[in-house]
Amino acid sequence: MAKNIIIIGGGPAGMEASARLDALGYTVFLVEKEKALGGHLARWDRLFPEGKPAGPVLDSLVGNLGNTKVLLESDVLSLNRLGDSFRISLSSGVSVIADAVLLTTGFDLFEASKKEEYGYGIYDHVVTNADVEEFFRTGGDPRIDNPQRIGLVHCVGSRDEKAGCRNCSKVCCATAVKQACELKAKFPAATVYCFYMDLRMFGRGYEDLYLKAQKEYGIRFIRGRVSEVSERIDKTLQIKAEDTLSSTPLRVTLDLLVLMAGMRPSREGTKVAKMIHLATGDDGFLSSLDGFGGMQATSIPGLFVAGAATGPKTLPDTIAEARAAASLIHEYLQKS
Ligand SMILES: Cc1cc2nc3c(=O)[nH]c(=O)nc-3n(C[C@H](O)[C@H](O)[C@H](O)COP(=O)(O)OP(=O)(O)OC[C@H]3O[C@@H](n4cnc5c(N)ncnc54)[C@H](O)[C@@H]3O)c2cc1C
Ligand code: SF4
Repeated sequence: MAKNIIIIGGGPAGMEASARLDALGYTVFLVEKEKALGGHLARWDRLFPEGKPAGPVLDSLVGNLGNTKVLLESDVLSLNRLGDSFRISLSSGVSVIADAVLLTTGFDLFEASKKEEYGYGIYDHVVTNADVEEFFRTGGDPRIDNPQRIGLVHCVGSRDEKAGCRNCSKVCCATAVKQACELKAKFPAATVYCFYMDLRMFGRGYEDLYLKAQKEYGIRFIRGRVSEVSERIDKTLQIKAEDTLSSTPLRVTLDLLVLMAGMRPSREGTKVAKMIHLATGDDGFLSSLDGFGGMQATSIPGLFVAGAATGPKTLPDTIAEARAAASLIHEYLQKS
């Protein structure tokens, strides 16, 4: 008899693992709380470092799902062990018994309004990285109205003790550099500044993107944290910062401020983890067995994790983890 697997979270990690396990002949139930699959990928326009459109990447993940049973708009009401199996009950009234469970509940974007000093949700021309993706994807946002002076602030809600988020979100330096170039291409007369603490351009091709941003697009990189933003009567923004390389205090007037909101633990993912007594780390992300060979396993036999549920991650790393989890689940089910 085919064995059942439940995958909770229909983002890139959940879809990739579903496709792999479906192809191996398992009966896969993919549970997603939203109306559609895709997770955060469905919100992005183009992907760093090359600027590849996100749409076809998403379409290919969905297209590979095969016979996966997709359960949309399904909140998890309970998840518990039943001997060696697991039982899940969903808000739709569906209940499934499974031999293995994979948590791919992803991340939440940091709520930029929590950093009151930046004025997100208060000042007219302050937006987030996710808003910029939406602007390029849908073609319109009244807050982004032919800006001539644009500032991007790195590390918003990351590496910030005061905001309760010590971790680096890994993806937002590359996203900032990519968006700085895109905004410059869209508004060629604009001066574009990136205010950064450190530039963490660690991935393949990222350094080239950074060089291109400086040489081809003339993006101005300023090392320093923006301490304060205020709105003037004409709706322009006055920001205070310090150039920490030259120890010079700066005041810059901008027409648009973009906040690089970081990756936070998924609230809904944490709720499900609590139901099954899976621990979370000090950073709030789900705990795997260890950070080396046991990255996709957990302390609970038959329960696995993959993708941004265990910490900030790029898409290629997410997909690689999903494949690793699928292979581990296969191994586990062959033995059990
Ligand atoms: C602004 C920004 C831009 C980015 N751009 C890039 C880029 O250009 N290139 C790149 O490589 N990476 C990029 N990333 C990173 C990329 O978005 C992540 O690597 C990827 O989304 C992680 O996929 P995931 O499936 O683990 O999580 P998610 O995309 O967060 O998907 C998780 C899914 O699980 C669902 N879910 C959560 N809890 C439950 C529950 N209890 N029940 C049911 N469903 C649940 C959610 O609704 C969601 O659909 C970017 C990140 C940010 C913040
Ligand atoms: S990736 Fe860059 S912007 Fe994002 S938290 Fe790390 S250092 Fe800050």
